[in-house]
Amino acid sequence: MTSHTVIIIEDEKQTRRFLRLSLEAEGYHVFEAETGGEGLKAVASRKPDMVIIDLGLPDMDGVEVVKKLREWSTIPIIILSARSEEKEKIIALDVGADDYLTKPFGTGELLARIRVALRRAISNEQAGNGTFSIADLTIDLIHRKITKMGEEIHLTPIEYRLLSVLAQHQGKVLTHSFLLKEVWGPNQMDNAHYLRIYMSQLRHKLEKEPVRPRYILTEAGVGYRFAVE
Ligand code: CA
Repeated sequence: MTSHTVIIIEDEKQTRRFLRLSLEAEGYHVFEAETGGEGLKAVASRKPDMVIIDLGLPDMDGVEVVKKLREWSTIPIIILSARSEEKEKIIALDVGADDYLTKPFGTGELLARIRVALRRAISNEQAGNGTFSIADLTIDLIHRKITKMGEEIHLTPIEYRLLSVLAQHQGKVLTHSFLLKEVWGPNQMDNAHYLRIYMSQLRHKLEKEPVRPRYILTEAGVGYRFAVE
């Protein structure tokens, strides 16, 4: 059981009810808001541990809510999107949302994504020493040293940069365009195949089974995510 507080910003009554019941059953404290404006006020006053934001809100776009929140808060944000909101979903991730759920979604998926987002917030707080680890993989950004089961792994400069960007956002979904910009720079945004090639190389060096990755997970059609424990 958990005592985390979650604010749900969603205008659809049925979805809000489903979220509330699923979360309360796990011990979460839940507050609801029907509009973006109400939600922003609730986040400021109730200081929750995370926020769930629907992209289609009556008063403002969910993307706007994410942008406004990110001006002053690093709180974990999960967005809810309909299939027709693929583009908005990518934008919301790029302006700072951590993760997404595509409607309709089940309780298991919802709870798993919430746990990842909450753990991401904790690992961010602990990341001050520049090291990231998951299972038997350790990434030391200060000494630029990657080890797997105690053995050092040698990466090319691009592979290293890609891995360090993923690790620094451990648990967060990073879009293809975000990764391209961070690793190759703003002028290489059309070269999506670079990302595929280097990701495959990186996985072959890090993963026991590159086709069933344990560390770097694929978010189909969206991007990649570095796993948390
Ligand atoms: Ca809605």
